[in-house]
Amino acid sequence: MGDNLAALTIHELHDLLVKRSISARDITESVLERIAAVEDRVHAYITVLADTARKQAAQADARIARGEATYLTGIPVALKDILCTKGIPTTCGSKMLANFVPPYDATVIEKLQQQGAVFIGKTSMDEFAMGSSNETSFFGPVHNPWDLSRVPGGSSGGSAAAVAADECIAALGTDTGGSIRQPAALCGVVGMKPTYGRVSRYGLIAFASSLDQIGPITKDVTDAALLLACISGHDDRDATSIDAPVPDYRSALIPHVRGMKIGIPTECFHEGLDPEIDAAVRMALEVLREQGAEIRDVSLPHTRYAVAVYYLIAPAEASSNLARYDGVAYGFRCDHPEDLQDMYERTRSEGFGSEVKRRIMLGTYALSAGYYDAYYKKASQVRTLIRRDFENAFAQCDLIITPTTPTPAFKLGEKLDDPLSMYLSDIFTIPANLAGLPGISLPCGFTASGLPIGLQIIGNVLQEETVLRCAYCYEQSTAWHTRKPLCV
Ligand code: GLN
Repeated sequence: MGDNLAALTIHELHDLLVKRSISARDITESVLERIAAVEDRVHAYITVLADTARKQAAQADARIARGEATYLTGIPVALKDILCTKGIPTTCGSKMLANFVPPYDATVIEKLQQQGAVFIGKTSMDEFAMGSSNETSFFGPVHNPWDLSRVPGGSSGGSAAAVAADECIAALGTDTGGSIRQPAALCGVVGMKPTYGRVSRYGLIAFASSLDQIGPITKDVTDAALLLACISGHDDRDATSIDAPVPDYRSALIPHVRGMKIGIPTECFHEGLDPEIDAAVRMALEVLREQGAEIRDVSLPHTRYAVAVYYLIAPAEASSNLARYDGVAYGFRCDHPEDLQDMYERTRSEGFGSEVKRRIMLGTYALSAGYYDAYYKKASQVRTLIRRDFENAFAQCDLIITPTTPTPAFKLGEKLDDPLSMYLSDIFTIPANLAGLPGISLPCGFTASGLPIGLQIIGNVLQEETVLRCAYCYEQSTAWHTRKPLCV
C-alpha cells in the first residue's frame, strides 16, 4: 500500500484494514512520519504519543485479526489537551497544569479505547480554551497549514491544524463558543459541535459548563458521523448528558436534500462580513437549492446580543470553575510562599496567562453582589430570548445556514492586542452554544489568496442526523474537501 496513508479518512482506512491490505501499524507509522516532517512548522501538538500509539496499533492489529474491528479500530486520533487521559499529561494549554497527569480517563477517551482507536497525541489549544487563535497557549502558537503566517483559529487550533496537515486521521476538539467550528473553518476541515448533552463532559476540564461540548474534527462529513457515533451517549457521571439512544449517524448520510427547508438568518449578511465569504456562502446555498432544498429567510433578532451575553455567562462560569486552581490539591504552586494568602495570590498570578485572568475578572465582576442582577441575570434572560428565536425559526425550517466566521484566517499577532475584535471571530458560532444546538462547519470554498472558507449548518436539538445529511449532500456535490494545503 502507498506511503501516504496519513492523508486518508477513517472510512477509507477502515475499508483497507478489514481487507487486510494495510495494517494499523502502517497507518500509525505513516502519521508519525508526517508529524516528523511538518510539525516543526505547524506546532499542532503539545505531546506526541509515539510509544503509546505504536502499542495501541499492535493491539488494534490483533483485534482486526480476530475479526472484531469497528470503525475507529487502528485509527490514529489526536486529542485536544483539555481531555483527561490517565497517566498522560493534560495541560489545558496552561502553565497551571503543565505538569498535571490525570488519574482517570474522560468518558470520550474510554469510548475511543473500547473501539481500539490509537492515541497519536495531545493537541495544542488556547489556555483553558479561551481564545480564537491558539495564541494564548502557554506552549506557543499553532500555525495554519494553509498559510504558516496565519492563525489556525481556536481554541481547538491544534486539533484542526493536525487534521488539515495530515498529522492525524481525525481529532477531538471542544466547543464553548465556536472552538470546534471556527478552527475547522479556518483550516479547511469539518468540525461538529453536538447538541449540549449529547456527549459526556466527564473528564473534560471545565471552562463554561453550561456551554462546553466535545465533538469531532475530521477530513470529511462521513468521518464526523463515525466519530460522533463513537463518543455520543448517556453517562451517569455527567448529570447534563442526555438519556436518548444514539442513532446510526452514518445511515443519515443520504446525498440529497429534497424537500428540506433551510433558513437563512437575514441578520448574518451584514457589512462586517468578508465579501469573499459572503459570495462563497451564497454559492453554497445555490448548490443546495439545486439539490432540492427550499431556501427561505428567517429572523433571529436577539442574536445581535449573543457575543455580549456569551462574554458575561462564559466568564462567570469560568471564574467559578477556575477557582480550584489554588496551588493546594494539584497543578502549579508558586515557589516559597510566605503564607496561605501569598500562595493563593502568587500561584494564580504566575500560573494563569493574561486572557484567562481577564475572563476571571470579568466573570467575578458579573457575579458580584450588586452587579449580579444587572449583568449575569440579565445575560441569562437574554440567553432565553436567543433560544426562543431559534425555536421560532425551527417552526419554519429544518436547518439554519450561516457563514462559520466573518473573516478567513487572520495573521498571527493581528488581533492579540484587541480582545473585542478577537471575540467577534465567534459572532456566528456563539448563538448555537447559547441555545444548546448542534452545528457543523464544512469547507465551502477558498479566498483568492487560497484561504479556506467554512459553511455553518445549525440544527434543532438532537437533529444531528439532519445536519449531517445536509452537510454530506453539499460535500458530495462539491470538491472543496479534497484540497490539501500546499505549504506543509
Ligand atoms: N473563542 C471563544 C472564547 O474565547 C470560544 C472558545 C471556545 O469555544 N472554547 O471564549
